Amino acid sequence: MSTSPTVAFLGLGHMGGPMAANLVKAGYPVTGFDPVPAAQEQATADGITVAATAVEAVQGADVVVTMLPNGKLVLGLYDEILPAAKPNTLFVDSSTIDVADAREAAERARAAGHRAVDAPVSGGVAGAAAGTLAFMVGGSEEDFATAQPLLEAMGRKIVHCGGSGNGQAAKICNNMILGISMIAISEAFVLGEKLGLDNQALFDVASNASGQCWALTSNCPVPGPVPTTPANNDYQPGFAAALMDKDLGLAANALRANGVEAELGLRAAELYHRFNESGNGGLDFSAIITDIRNRSTEEDTK
Ligand code: NAD
Repeated sequence: MSTSPTVAFLGLGHMGGPMAANLVKAGYPVTGFDPVPAAQEQATADGITVAATAVEAVQGADVVVTMLPNGKLVLGLYDEILPAAKPNTLFVDSSTIDVADAREAAERARAAGHRAVDAPVSGGVAGAAAGTLAFMVGGSEEDFATAQPLLEAMGRKIVHCGGSGNGQAAKICNNMILGISMIAISEAFVLGEKLGLDNQALFDVASNASGQCWALTSNCPVPGPVPTTPANNDYQPGFAAALMDKDLGLAANALRANGVEAELGLRAAELYHRFNESGNGGLDFSAIITDIRNRSTEEDTK
């Protein structure tokens, strides 16, 4: 591959738009496609050459990056574009999708004579804009090495997690820890409140004791102890509850498909799904504490 590989970027939404813009800033020639006119206009303003179709965008590209809402769309789009890409093109899927779908997508790419890695991200829209995303990558050593410089133009921490699908596996395992731990921290604060314990006092103890975790010390669900958290700003995200619902749904699929006895992971998926379905998907995921508090009050008055 030359020093400036040509990139096709498909899916120029909240994440893909700024990620593609960072590739342009790093000197990559980027051709993009997204069916939404507003995304096309922003991409043009960011120096991306907007193609009329996805097929047109991938013709002549050395690397194809996809950033789409779900696995069904990724597989459907791969079926469309794999035959149009030149042989040995590297396909990088950064969407968050099922592990099984990621492995299937890589398999289809290889069967069509190409190379593939899954490279989902964490860091949200702010990380995408700042070029500080974390990438979790699944694929061969060789394909990872080819993808790495490109990913470094969009992110700060790039971790090779093993073979195809392992990037998605790392992402859902991490977010399952996060979802469960946020619920645990929220339940502890609500119990503390019921017992007359000041939130700050509980924070001062738990953050210096064995209850310490990221959900407590970096995304504390009550206002006060950590002034920068979404709890201090009416739970504006941050990491939206709708995305936690999606990621825990993917984790639950993988738990069931692999026969893992994970009662907390499955329960966390149910609680976030209910919270999202009740119209709270746009709030930060730490707002789950308000649901726990409200339900606890209802129980008391019975
Ligand atoms: P988004 O809906 O803003 O963007 C997705 C884009 O894909 C849309 O603009 C849509 O028009 C486009 N698209 C759909 N079908 C297409 C096709 N066939 N060809 C080209 N473009 C197509 O979503 P987003 O927030 O950018 O998220 C993208 C992915 O990143 C998701 O899988 C999400 O789970 C993951 N993710 C999002 C965040 C976040 O904070 N938003 C964080 C981490 C991971």
